[in-house]
Amino acid sequence: LTTADLIEEHRICVCVRKRPLNKKEVTAKELDVITIPSKDVVMVHEPKQKVDLTRFLENQTFRFDYAFDDSTTNEMVYRFTARPLVETIFERGMATCFAYGQTGSGKTHTMGGDFSGKNQDCSKGIYALAARDVFLMLKKPNYKKLELQVYATFFEIYSGKVFDLLNRKAKLRVLEDGKQQVQVVGLQEREVKCTEDVLKLIEVGNSCRTSGQTSANAHSSRSHAVFQIILRRKGKMHGKFSLIDLAGNERGADTSSADRQTRLEGAEINKSLLALKCVMSCISYVVLLLLLLLFYREIMDLAQ
Ligand code: ADP
Ligand code: MG
Repeated sequence: LTTADLIEEHRICVCVRKRPLNKKEVTAKELDVITIPSKDVVMVHEPKQKVDLTRFLENQTFRFDYAFDDSTTNEMVYRFTARPLVETIFERGMATCFAYGQTGSGKTHTMGGDFSGKNQDCSKGIYALAARDVFLMLKKPNYKKLELQVYATFFEIYSGKVFDLLNRKAKLRVLEDGKQQVQVVGLQEREVKCTEDVLKLIEVGNSCRTSGQTSANAHSSRSHAVFQIILRRKGKMHGKFSLIDLAGNERGADTSSADRQTRLEGAEINKSLLALKCVMSCISYVVLLLLLLLFYREIMDLAQ
C-alpha cells in the first residue's frame, strides 16, 4: 500500500518517527529503549527492576501506518506523510498534518526545520518541502490552466488564544461562519510566488513566535503553531493544507506543578488535545457512517 492508498482507505494515517539520542542522553549513557524492527513496527524495551534487582528488558510492540528509524531524513518522512496531501489540495481537498509528541521529541525539527544551531535552516522542514512541491505541481499542465494563486498563513494558539505570527502577534478571534466553517477573523494571508517567499514567511513567523520570551523552547512547547498553504482560484478557496506543530503533550498530563500559570496552560493544552482526539474519532465515524449509508442504499434499491 502507498500512503495515498492508506489515506484513501482510512482517511487518517498515523506514523511515528524516532529521533537519535541527543548529546546529553549519550553523555549520561542513557539506554536507547526504542527500536524499529520493520517499516511499521515500533518496539519499546522497557527497563524493569526484577525482584532480585537485576535489570531486564521487557519488549512491547506497537504497529503504525509507518515507523521511521533515527536514520530517516525529514525528506523521507515528508515523502510518506505530507507529500500525498499536496495532491489532495490540488484536487480541491482540505488536508492536515500534525506533529504530536512530548517536548524534545523532534516536532519542530520535523515540521519547521532545524533551529538548534546558529545557522537556522527552515528549508528542510515539512512546511518548506510541502511549499516546494506546491510550486512544482503548479507547473503541471493540468493545474497550470486553473491559474491558481498560493497564499500562506502562520498563527499560534497559546492558552486558548490565537495570535497572528505574520502580523506582529496580533490577537485574533475565531468564529464560525454561516456555513459552519471556522474562520480566524483578520488572519493575514500572504500571497507567495515561490519557495523562497515561503521560507521568508516561516522565518518571520518563527522569530515572532519566540521573540520576547526568556526561554524560547519553553514557550513554543506550550503553544500550537499552525502553518497553512491555501490555494485560491479567482479569489475562491480551492484547497487548504494545514501543517501543525502541536504543543508538547506532556504539559497536558502534568498536574503536579505548583505554579498556577503552568497548571492553567496544562489545562488548556489538555482541553485542546482532547478536542483533537474527538475530531479524530469523528473522522473515523464518518467513514463508518458512509459505509452504513451505502449499505442502506443497496437495501433500498433491492426493496424497490
Ligand atoms: P520539539 O519541537 O518536539 O520540542 P525539537 O524539534 O525542538 O523538539 O527537537 C529537540 C532537539 O532535538 C533539537 O535540538 C533538534 O534539532 C533535535 N532533533 C530532533 N529530531 C531530530 C532528528 N531526527 N535528527 C537530529 N536531531 C534532531
Ligand atoms: Mg517545538
